Amino acid sequence: MNTNWLDLNTGAHVLLGGSNIGVITHEGRAIMVDAGLDRSVSKKALRQVEALGARLEALIITHGHADHFGGAGWLAERGIPVYAPALEGVFATHPLLEPLFLYGGAAPIRELQGKFTLAQDSVSHVEAMVSGALTLAGLTLNLIPLPGHAPAQLGVGYGDVLYCGDVVFPEETLARHPILFCADLDAWLETLAGLPALPHTHFVPGHGETVQEIAPLAEANAARLQEIRDQVWKALAEPHESEAVLRAVAAHFDITFAAPQFYLLALTTIHAALTSLQRAGAAAVEMVENRMLWRRI
Ligand SMILES: [Zn+2]
Repeated sequence: MNTNWLDLNTGAHVLLGGSNIGVITHEGRAIMVDAGLDRSVSKKALRQVEALGARLEALIITHGHADHFGGAGWLAERGIPVYAPALEGVFATHPLLEPLFLYGGAAPIRELQGKFTLAQDSVSHVEAMVSGALTLAGLTLNLIPLPGHAPAQLGVGYGDVLYCGDVVFPEETLARHPILFCADLDAWLETLAGLPALPHTHFVPGHGETVQEIAPLAEANAARLQEIRDQVWKALAEPHESEAVLRAVAAHFDITFAAPQFYLLALTTIHAALTSLQRAGAAAVEMVENRMLWRRI
């Protein structure tokens, strides 16, 4: 057995990797939670399912980021039905959407076409799922809304285990990539505030180790988001375009972006923080001499 393969309890497993993959088995039937970066990873996960003597009957995608669904196309070609929240699943049926989004809707630059942001395989059909109870392959799951990092992310609860996608990042990621990728900063803070009250005792994040006590990690992620928001506010001591705000926040965290894709991922988070300040009535945007300037109110 693979040393990255963890048996959590009562049929819940995780294959730890660049992106973690969950596997739940019950009476010879199995479902997978997220499919990893590419077909080689999902192949490996499928072999683990078979080694348990189980038959994979469904794949659930927690959110529409290529490092979580890149392997989904390969599984779908093998007849595995794919489930995802509707707004996240469209990225699996149309992987071009992710780099398109990151590039403001225009045909993406080459640097956004690596497999981390552009999945190599698409899924022809994704079954939409919503929060609440879902029975799949004889398993009763509880789907929990975890929006913020992605707009409609859902966690998959099974007994005391919660496969929670990218709702929290491990400390190493917080250190290595201080500006966490964020779609909706307010939604993410609200999600993080509610995490410790969930009845689960094993949390399986999309990256890093599984944790039993989620509160410290939820607090660390929330503190980082708050720090980003505070730094964006600080940068608006004078009116700035969002790119100038990003430069100020990057300087605060001592970040030097090595490539355009990292810059664009961080710029999305700055946009999310600016939206949050606008919602709070703390900042406004206006056009001045063809510059889209953000200023404090
Ligand atoms: Zn993600």
